[in-house]
Amino acid sequence: DEASFQKKEAELAKRLVWQDGSKMTLAQSKKLSQLTADNAQWEDRQLLRSGAVRGTELQTEFDDEDERKVILLVHDTKPPFLDGRFVYTKQAEPIMPLKDPTSDMAIISRKGSTLIREIHEKQRMNKSRQRFWELAGSKLGDILGVEKTAEQIDADTSVVGEQGEVDFKEEAKFAQHLKKGEAVSDFAKSKTLSQQRQYLPIFSVREELLQVVRENQVVVVVGETGSGKTTQLTQYLHEDGYTISGIVGCTQPRRVAAMSVAKRVSEELETELGDEVGYAIRFEDVTGPNTVIKYMTDGVLLKETLKDSDLEKYRVVVMDEAHERSLSTDVLFGILKKVVARRRDFKLIVTSATLNAQKFSNFFGSVPIFRIPGRTFPVKTLYSKTPCEDYVEAAVKQAMTIHITSDPGDILIFMTGQDEIEATCYALAERMESFESSNKEVPKLLILPIYSQLPADLQAKIFQKAEDGSRKCIVATNIAETSLTVDGIFYVIDTGYGKIKVYNPCMGMDALQVFPVSRAAADQRAGRAGRTGPGTCYRLYTESAYLNEMLPSPVPEIQRTNLGNVVLLLKSLKIDNLLDFDFMDPPPQENILNSMYQLWVLGALNNVGNLTDLGWNMVEFPLDPPLAKMLLMGEQLGCINEVLTVVSMLSVPSVFFRPKDRVEESDAAREKFFVPESDHLTLLNVYQQWKANQYRGDWCNDHFLHVKGLRKAREVRSQLLDILKTLKIALTSCGPDWDVVRKAICSAYFHNAARLKGVGEYVNCRNGMPCHLHPSSALYGLGYTPDYVVYHELILTTREYMQCATSVEPQWLAELGPMFFSVKD
Ligand code: ADP
Ligand code: MG
Repeated sequence: DEASFQKKEAELAKRLVWQDGSKMTLAQSKKLSQLTADNAQWEDRQLLRSGAVRGTELQTEFDDEDERKVILLVHDTKPPFLDGRFVYTKQAEPIMPLKDPTSDMAIISRKGSTLIREIHEKQRMNKSRQRFWELAGSKLGDILGVEKTAEQIDADTSVVGEQGEVDFKEEAKFAQHLKKGEAVSDFAKSKTLSQQRQYLPIFSVREELLQVVRENQVVVVVGETGSGKTTQLTQYLHEDGYTISGIVGCTQPRRVAAMSVAKRVSEELETELGDEVGYAIRFEDVTGPNTVIKYMTDGVLLKETLKDSDLEKYRVVVMDEAHERSLSTDVLFGILKKVVARRRDFKLIVTSATLNAQKFSNFFGSVPIFRIPGRTFPVKTLYSKTPCEDYVEAAVKQAMTIHITSDPGDILIFMTGQDEIEATCYALAERMESFESSNKEVPKLLILPIYSQLPADLQAKIFQKAEDGSRKCIVATNIAETSLTVDGIFYVIDTGYGKIKVYNPCMGMDALQVFPVSRAAADQRAGRAGRTGPGTCYRLYTESAYLNEMLPSPVPEIQRTNLGNVVLLLKSLKIDNLLDFDFMDPPPQENILNSMYQLWVLGALNNVGNLTDLGWNMVEFPLDPPLAKMLLMGEQLGCINEVLTVVSMLSVPSVFFRPKDRVEESDAAREKFFVPESDHLTLLNVYQQWKANQYRGDWCNDHFLHVKGLRKAREVRSQLLDILKTLKIALTSCGPDWDVVRKAICSAYFHNAARLKGVGEYVNCRNGMPCHLHPSSALYGLGYTPDYVVYHELILTTREYMQCATSVEPQWLAELGPMFFSVKD
């Protein structure tokens, strides 16, 4: 109730300490209380979650336990091998340091954008958005489902947006440029690919670079983004004969980069993608017998070290973008260091965009650092005078101002994720439209989004030249920081934020959260404006925030992630003492121990901490440990065919299509698929019906399903099926009796068991975390909500929503998760 909540809150506020253990000043703690008062429960959970403060978790008490038919006792058993070293704590431990959670940047990152909310609201009411996307010249509209309504457009529903609030005094200036028809140096159009190659900075040092590689086994190569490291190095190595006895591999931390770069290099070499040049990402291998240059995500190479710990087929491995410090890169560092020691003929090249080079060199024993001379222009940096309350809004305004008043040159805006990017594109298009409809002479603006979930063909669009007299505006996540380089950018708008995956050991989950970026990343972003000529970077934060609130460099992923797969992998590589593995920056010991604990809970590790048979099989699957377990339990329970589908469906984004203007229709369509006791089984049902309809695309359209998502699920399924075949696991089916499938789900997710507390309101059985049934859940179809559910994951939006829930019997929890649950007789 309210009073006791307030008391708890007051207590909590009193206890607040910074993550370094020091006490908060009175002023800081007052500001925090204000925050919590604003949005009480939500805010302090956010703070705990952000790791900014250490507080005592608010423990929920259950009084009505004995009213249940079956009484489930909840306890916590620890694996013997962790005895004495491991204290399972319910306290939220800081993972990602926020320098000061009461600072403006920290508060803004929690609040989110009002503009986005407005746009969402508007989109809901808005029947016709088609024209914006035509104007934007992008297919973003298709992704947002605009094409669906194309037929319905009626001419009179034109949308008038708010004024762009741009100062028109300088309008004339732009119009002048426009009339001159002056285009930005149209390099790509006028030069052949091979001329373009020779123009890159790396080309001038080609010989010296190859010489250093000949003379050394490991080389660190440093060069500004865009100097040609990713696209050229592999080709040089190929030309220098390294592909006669083996292949050249190049790792990328991002899937998008691996695909896009491989495509570019295949064009430069004038071969089909997948022939001489190919790429491999999880669930997608586009290489062939002729492939000698292989781009891949670092995760793929890591998986390959399992089959072949010496990486025999590779003559050279280029670890690209090492400065990103992705989890897989960090593990690869330790593994490749050993390969280098064992194989004299093996070469390793580590590339980095200026940061950390010395650190990489030291790690491999003071190896040479080769610097590619830069060719960059000065970038003028302008700071916001006051903190921006809404950086999305501010970015849109700034972009419009640049577009109207500044010299030609493309714009690059950094946002944190898909939602913000789409909203920004929408707002820009809308403001452009309103200028046009008021007959102001405004040149065209080509608005191009890029983020990792965007289909590849749309991603490629950012490299296209805008037509003469129009300006390109790319709205990107941090993918455009170093992985992808677009020429012709003269203006960078940096919001100062990025999304980071942070794992909280207390809640046992990774969450993508918006955080201020590091100073190093901010400088990288600014640098993007100075590639073609002198540029300008608009920082939508204050200079003091840059100096005082941002961390100097990013926190490596390994320091803030769930290490379950890493632990499985390292264990399978026979690295028994994980605490001794040669990590460049060892992850917090607690995280390693916690992951081992989770794997023990799942039955992948035995009581002495070694892989069990189940664990060995789990390593084979490119899946999160619980999903792998679910699949393998499907085998034991005789329903692997069904579980395979469930797992595949969980590995793709939601297949339900819910266009904002046909909400009711699409919801009704979705409900037809509901299996009332389970969202997982609902997914199974969707897939089986799709299959029964010959996997048809038009059938998907009729039933408001994303055909792309379903096709992807089908692909994933067939890949997993291949793995099952190699493991000689036979495909068993339970037919229409799906209860056993729920049991398999329960066997893998009992750590996410939740108990009914109110209408649609659950609490996690073990730690009392509130978790709500999502309004779209099939479980509402039961007419009553089940006492116990397990869920796939918690999604944090306005509340903690259970993503994909399935009702389970309490007896199953006791049977499958005996370390946590038992049934009282
Ligand atoms: P680095 O790895 O040093 O950052 P890259 O090799 O990625 O540099 O890029 C070199 C050049 O190739 C850049 O000018 C970039 O614009 C161009 N480029 C890279 N990928 C593509 C692509 N998919 N389409 C067109 N141009 C590309
Ligand atoms: Mg690169």
